[in-house]
Amino acid sequence: MTQSTPYKCKICGRPGVARYDDSCPINSLQAWVSMLAHDRCHDYAIARRRVERSISAVCDTILRTRVHDNFPDDVTVERAKHTVESARPILSFLTHRYADICCAYHHLQTIWEPDFPQQLLDHPDKSKLIMTTYVQGIKTLPRPKTA
Ligand SMILES: [Zn+2]
Repeated sequence: MTQSTPYKCKICGRPGVARYDDSCPINSLQAWVSMLAHDRCHDYAIARRRVERSISAVCDTILRTRVHDNFPDDVTVERAKHTVESARPILSFLTHRYADICCAYHHLQTIWEPDFPQQLLDHPDKSKLIMTTYVQGIKTLPRPKTA
């Protein structure tokens, strides 16, 4: 028989109701409930994480060029510059995608500025902080009124 239980979404913190069949045993209902998220929130988290990983990978490539080569000669400096310039359009694309995902989830028009990928190019070691700051920033914006 189908049962239902209230839960608090682990991503947005809002309440939800989960349904389960009591013929399918759940070891710990409390533990199961603590892991639940709304479908929409879950999809958002997966999509966001996927882009975050891609952005981090590009930033790691920039960092590797900077740290290990240590700019000992002109050839290496040129290679490092080339890596940054190659990363620019990729980070521009990825940050657009990231902004689309985050703003859609928060019911906002996409907010993107060239400063976003530029910050990542300037501070690839702080990519996680830059992405977190972006999300925190859009969370504070007023939501459009729904009819
Ligand atoms: Zn949720």
